[in-house]
Amino acid sequence: MALNRNWSKTSMCTGSEGQVGTVSEPAAEQTMDRGKPAPAADATLVDDLVTANHILFNHGVVDAFGHVSVRHDKAPDRFLLARNLAPALVTPDDILEFDLDGNPLAARGRPVYLERFIHGEIYRARPDVVAVVHSHAPAVVPFGAVSSQPLMPIWHMSGFLGEGVPVFEIRDSAGPGSDLLIRSGDLGVALAESLGTSSVVLMRGHGATVVGSNLKQAVFRAVYTQMNAELQLQAKILGAATFLNAQEAAATTVSVGSQIDRAWDMWARQAGSNNP
Ligand code: MN
Repeated sequence: MALNRNWSKTSMCTGSEGQVGTVSEPAAEQTMDRGKPAPAADATLVDDLVTANHILFNHGVVDAFGHVSVRHDKAPDRFLLARNLAPALVTPDDILEFDLDGNPLAARGRPVYLERFIHGEIYRARPDVVAVVHSHAPAVVPFGAVSSQPLMPIWHMSGFLGEGVPVFEIRDSAGPGSDLLIRSGDLGVALAESLGTSSVVLMRGHGATVVGSNLKQAVFRAVYTQMNAELQLQAKILGAATFLNAQEAAATTVSVGSQIDRAWDMWARQAGSNNP
């Protein structure tokens, strides 16, 4: 299938809900509902997804852009993701169900994120993945752009980076003139292939996508990927850094990974959640 190269969609105009489906809307799209919705997801999972949106905003991982999803607890071939909205503004009523092709089940015309294919294709490729965070976290962008400087675990909080952090080069899939966005299933597949079995894939000129085996882990890893990038850059100024070796990375992933609830509970409280 040919990749979408509709350059008329690359303007930076921001659409409103009243102007959905127009060519001036680069990051939102109105698409038809397809299929039958799954039984309602657990209300706690929906609340946690709302909280995840707010936590990621509070930590500067997402700003007006970026999104977080979780696999549907009653239908593994579906996922939950907000309608097209700044993460800080997401409420439970904004959470929509999607199939793995990125079709909403009951959006009822509400605009959806253009880059929802990131989520669907990773869930399809990685049965172990239960949550996905896509962001333009500024601190990681330099590491996607400078190929000689891979993102590596500089402290124990991000040992999960020790399995390697690939960089997705969209030119290999979309050619030399794309708008960098994952605006099709084909590009989602290519991104998922680049991610491979890792937890993080950087996206050259764009941002990063982080996955987890549950929502809290994905959020935790997205936050500490950003912090690791900041620290790695600071260390580079001082000199040649010693990174965690493979054994240290594996050991810290286990030990720190057991403490994720501690961080989540605090961050959820900071985010004003009623469901910490
Ligand atoms: Mn993006």
